[in-house]
Amino acid sequence: MLKLDHIVKDFGNHHGLRDVSVEFPANQTTVIVGPSGSGKTTLLRTIDFLEIPDSGRYQFDDLDYDLSKPLTKQEVLAARRKLGIVFQSYNLFPHLNVLANITEGPVQVLGKNKQEAEAEAHDLLKKVGLDDKADVYPDQLSGGQQQRIAIARMVAMAPEYMLFDEPTSALDPELEVEVLKVILELAKMKNSIVIVTHNMDFARGVADKIVFVEDGQIAYQGDPTTFFNEPNDRIKAFLAAGQ
Ligand code: ATP
Repeated sequence: MLKLDHIVKDFGNHHGLRDVSVEFPANQTTVIVGPSGSGKTTLLRTIDFLEIPDSGRYQFDDLDYDLSKPLTKQEVLAARRKLGIVFQSYNLFPHLNVLANITEGPVQVLGKNKQEAEAEAHDLLKKVGLDDKADVYPDQLSGGQQQRIAIARMVAMAPEYMLFDEPTSALDPELEVEVLKVILELAKMKNSIVIVTHNMDFARGVADKIVFVEDGQIAYQGDPTTFFNEPNDRIKAFLAAGQ
């Protein structure tokens, strides 16, 4: 279980997150939705300490941090080791081929031997439908292919939680589908997933839990059926706006 309690994050005079308390259940997919600029990405980045909150409590398995005190590097690393993140832009290493992009972390960070890491990378490439691309470089791939490699690279590190920050928003709709399929498969396998998306059809299809962020606050967290089928007026207005 990953839990944030009373999280506050200001950007100067601007309130990023205002007293946010939220749980991300293990072995479930939590989808963060909300209007543009509401704080979805800030919330996701807080989980990985890419944004450091001003105050609040962070609980993740055996980790329990009071965020009003400065975190040590070790504390941040202890959390990050359990987390994988896929960003909007694919962020592959341009100078490494696809196979090396995937094996770099397992070999360098997890200390796996190269053969084992390569065998696992080929398995992952099959799963994302790109085993024939093992030897090519990122700039020879479409955006959708690069994003599927980025997902394979993240999965290769066997993180406890997989975080996705608007993973398809840079892609054309036809390329988006192939990436969403891969994420859906990961969700079906009962991975612990947190994903920010604007794609409401996808959110409806993949979510075990919806977190609706509005103006830096959690306006709803709970089951997707209530959110989509029995929305309150605020949710209705958001869904009608088609964001
Ligand atoms: P979108 O759907 O458009 O990506 P979002 O819901 O993910 O938006 P955030 O990116 O979390 O929203 O931003 C929340 C608010 O905090 C916005 O008003 C944004 O401008 C502001 N903000 C985010 N990061 C910073 C920063 N580093 N410095 C200043 N303001 C920031």
